[in-house]
Amino acid sequence: MNQSFPDEDLPEGAVVDGMALGRPFDDSYDFVVVGSGAAGAVAAHTLAESGASVALVEEGPWVKTRDFGDRVYDAFRGMYRDAGTQVLEGDSYIPLIQGACVGGSTVMNSAIAWRPPEEVLVDWQRRFGLGDVASMKVLEPHFDALEAALGARGVQDEVLGENNRIFLEQAEKQGISAVRTRRYERGCRGSGRCMTGCPTAAKQGMNVSYVPWALRLGARIFTSCRVDRVVIVSGRAVGIVARAKGGHPVHLRARRGVLVAASAVQTPNLLRRSGLRARDLGEHFQAHPGLGMGGVFDRPVHMEFGATQGADIEQFRTSDGIKLETISMPPELAAVRIPGIGRELMNRLAVFSNLAVWALIVRSDSEGRVTTGWGGRDKVVFSLSKRDLERVRGGMARLASLFFDAGALEVWPGVFGIPSALTSADQVKLLEDAPLDARAFSFIATHLFGTARMGPERKGREGSVVGLDFQTHEAERLYVVDSSVFPTNLGVNPQHTIMALARLASVRVLEA
Ligand SMILES: Cc1cc2nc3c(=O)[nH]c(=O)nc-3n(C[C@H](O)[C@H](O)[C@H](O)COP(=O)(O)OP(=O)(O)OC[C@H]3O[C@@H](n4cnc5c(N)ncnc54)[C@H](O)[C@@H]3O)c2cc1C
Ligand code: SF4
Repeated sequence: MNQSFPDEDLPEGAVVDGMALGRPFDDSYDFVVVGSGAAGAVAAHTLAESGASVALVEEGPWVKTRDFGDRVYDAFRGMYRDAGTQVLEGDSYIPLIQGACVGGSTVMNSAIAWRPPEEVLVDWQRRFGLGDVASMKVLEPHFDALEAALGARGVQDEVLGENNRIFLEQAEKQGISAVRTRRYERGCRGSGRCMTGCPTAAKQGMNVSYVPWALRLGARIFTSCRVDRVVIVSGRAVGIVARAKGGHPVHLRARRGVLVAASAVQTPNLLRRSGLRARDLGEHFQAHPGLGMGGVFDRPVHMEFGATQGADIEQFRTSDGIKLETISMPPELAAVRIPGIGRELMNRLAVFSNLAVWALIVRSDSEGRVTTGWGGRDKVVFSLSKRDLERVRGGMARLASLFFDAGALEVWPGVFGIPSALTSADQVKLLEDAPLDARAFSFIATHLFGTARMGPERKGREGSVVGLDFQTHEAERLYVVDSSVFPTNLGVNPQHTIMALARLASVRVLEA
C-alpha cells in the first residue's frame, strides 16, 4: 500500500514555492513569521490556531519525506545551510551545522526532547531578570502540550540498538546514572539515519508536524524565499521584504506583527539588515560544542540499527559541565574520523560494523559574536575557554573508560597529540593530559544560543535586545522567538525549550 505522509495533500494554495514563483508577490497577513524551524513552526501554529492569518517564510526548500535519501552528502547539499560548510571561527575552526529547509534543523536532528534544567531557569530569573518567562510553572503547560503533540517518550525496547544498549549497561555497572533519551517520535523504526531526514515521518520534525498543522489551520508558507529585511516604519514593524529563489521580490505586510525565528546565527544579522543597532545585538553567542569518540568491540554493534541518539548521562552536567550521549554515525561521516591511511585505514573500515560512537557536549562558558562577514555571509567568531577544554578532556577520559570497561578492544579518540588508537585502559590518562588547544579536537556545534538576548534593560551590564514581552526594545511589533533570546546556553539539548518559549511568546503576542 502507498503510505501517505503528513507533508502531503496540503490545502490548495497553502504553499508558495519561491523557486516556481513567476511574478513579484505582494500580500497582507496578521502575522509574518520568519523561519520554519523549531521556533518558527510552533509560533506559526499557535498564531494560526487563534484564527489569525499567518504567513511563514522559509529560505530553504521543502524536501518531502518521500524524497529523503540515505546519502549524507546529498542531504547536506539539499537541506543543510551552506551545504554543511558553515564554521565557528576562533582559536580553531568548528563546523557549525544547521538546517536550511522547511522544518529547519529539526529535519536532521535526533529528536531529543529534554526540558531545561531548573537551575538554568533560576539563573535567567536572578541574573538576567527574566521574571515569569523563565518560570517552570509558566512554561510547564507549554512543555506538556508539546510533549503530547509530538509524542515525547523514552526510546522503546525494539529500537534501542546495541550502540545505546552497551552505553546504558556499562554506565549502570559503573554506578553512573544513565537514561534512555526522550525523543519526539511516533513509531521510530531505529533506522539510525535521523541526519538525512526520517524516511517514515516517525520523527516529529516540524516538516511533518507543526508546519503542516499550521497550514491546515489556514496559514500559508513561502518556501525558498529569503527574508532580506523587516520593514520598520515610524518605529514599528509592518512587514517583510524577501527574495524568492526564482528571482522575484516578495513583499508581505504584517498587520499585527513580525516574529523572527531564523536561529541564533541568522536572526541578529536579519535584525541588523532591518536597521536595529542595539549594542548587544550579535553579542553573547553561546554553544554546546560536542565531539564523538569511537570504540571497537569484538562483536557487531551495527550502528545502522537503533535510535540515532538513544542514551544519555546527565550526572556530570552541573559538576563537570558535560553531558555524555550516544550517536550513530553513518559510514560516510564516521569514515572521516577513522584513523590511519592505506592498509591501516582499510583494516579499520573492515570492522565498521563493530564500531560504537559515543559523544559529549560541553556547556561552554565562552561567548562569541555574530557579525556580517565578507559577501554578506553570517560570520560567527567563537573560541572555547581553557576551562571548557579541561572539561572536554575530562569527559573524553570518562567516555574512554566506559568503552574499555565495556570490553572495547580499541578506542579512537580523534585528538591530535594522542595515539589515534588507544588499546588499553591505562592509556586513558593520556586523554586527561591532552593539549589544552581547541585545534587538537574535532568539535562540531549544533546547539546555538544568545545574540539577541532578552532582558528588562536595553543598556547596562546585562544589556539586552529583546524585552520580556519578546518585542525588540527598538521596534514595536517586532518579536524574536528563537534561542537568540536565551541569555545563556542550557547544558541539555535545546529544541524542547526553544519550542516552549516560542509557544509562550506567541500566546503573549496574541494577548498584546
Ligand atoms: C544535526 C543536528 C542534530 C541536532 N539534534 C538535536 C536534538 O536531538 N535535540 C535538540 O534539542 N536539538 C538538536 N539540535 C538542535 C536543534 O535542532 C536546534 O536547536 C533547533 O532546531 C533551533 O531552532 P530554531 O528555530 O532556532 O532554528 P532552526 O530549526 O535551525 O530553523 C531556522 C530556520 O530559519 C530559516 N531562515 C534563516 N534565515 C532566514 C531568512 N533570512 N529568511 C527565511 N528563512 C530563514 C532557516 O533556513 C531555518 O530553516 C540538532 C541540530 C542539528 C543541526
Ligand atoms: S532513527 Fe527513528 S526517528 Fe530517526 S530516522 Fe530512523 S526511524 Fe526516523
